[in-house]
Amino acid sequence: MSTATKENDIFEKMSQLHNGQLHFFTDSTHALQAIVAIDSLARGPALGGCRFVEYDSTHEAIHDVIRLAKGMTLKAAITNLNFGGGKAVIIKPKQLKNRQKLFERFADFFHALNGQYITAMDSGTTLEDMQTIANKTDYVIHLKPHHQFPTANPSSYTALGIFYGIQAAAQHRFNSTNLNNLHIAISGMGNVGYALGEYLIKAGAHLTITDINPRAIQSFLKQYPAQTCSPEQFYSLPCDILSPCALGGCLNKETIPQLNTKIIAGSANNQLATKDCGKEIHSRNILYTPDFALNAGGLIQATSLYLNHNEHTALKKIKSIYEIIQTIFTRAQQKNQSPETVAIELAIENLPIDRSVAYQCYMQ
Ligand code: NAD
Repeated sequence: MSTATKENDIFEKMSQLHNGQLHFFTDSTHALQAIVAIDSLARGPALGGCRFVEYDSTHEAIHDVIRLAKGMTLKAAITNLNFGGGKAVIIKPKQLKNRQKLFERFADFFHALNGQYITAMDSGTTLEDMQTIANKTDYVIHLKPHHQFPTANPSSYTALGIFYGIQAAAQHRFNSTNLNNLHIAISGMGNVGYALGEYLIKAGAHLTITDINPRAIQSFLKQYPAQTCSPEQFYSLPCDILSPCALGGCLNKETIPQLNTKIIAGSANNQLATKDCGKEIHSRNILYTPDFALNAGGLIQATSLYLNHNEHTALKKIKSIYEIIQTIFTRAQQKNQSPETVAIELAIENLPIDRSVAYQCYMQ
């Protein structure tokens, strides 16, 4: 088999899933092209958001959905949630005819998976889209009348978990959870970045913020004081904590040599372009906070909604992200390993599966 053929082989790509499934759905009437990846059902049904974004190719979408589904398995496992890992992407058509119909058709399709996959809001999808899906299937996170939550939007819960994780990182690196006067740089002032910025300002931190969308920056600056920088300046900015809250793959061969921070702690999924990047950051004595553990607050909120738990229970669990991050750093220090490697090990220890197989799958 030639290399090119191998790269395009679906089963070759699926070999990255632990015990996986890849489902393709299409309906040309509504320009629907959707993929659901289920990485693992070992701890329970696979819960993960649905992205609705443009992709250059189907292979790019497959790559994205597989990586994200794997991350969800690790996220649920490290936070001890009885859920597996899955994710969906709907490839955003160039021309959208009828958004509601598109999401209804998506719901019809994945409902047939009988609850193996539960969907939720993610990049490009809205609470209204989840409500549309809820008219067709119960396997969706949305707000029901009896829920004791102010919103089904996970972003502020994700931001709160990141705030606790940043405190744990500060404790480990600076011997104090006090963020007063620390200089923290945030890239991506969207749903999570904005809410995180609010928590950090209230804790006395000085912020530098950036976004490719000037309106996102302006809306934060209307409420709070902050310096700004360009997205290109972000990685080399001298600061105490760098918080990537925009894109995956942002810590790579180009950006890592520029880093001038002591801690990295942000919401973006799959920040490390490759696992080697985690080791490289570690060798530069920068404390990297593994994203899938740090940004689990939104998943905790989603599972709480699904299980009809109240907000108080969810908030208590989100607070435990502090201890999880602390455990990761302590073990990483003891073993002189990167926090990313240790976080994956800890998650795998919580998976009731063959560990040697799991290592091959999640360490690659
Ligand atoms: P969002 O779409 O609301 O915000 C992302 C922001 O990043 C936007 O303002 C966008 O303009 C900006 N951006 C895009 N490319 C950029 C670049 N190159 N440089 C600077 N800014 C850029 O998304 P969100 O919900 O805030 O999520 C942010 C990240 O956190 C994503 O990677 C997402 O997968 C991850 N995440 C989100 C949640 C959640 O609860 N929303 C949970 C876990 C992980």
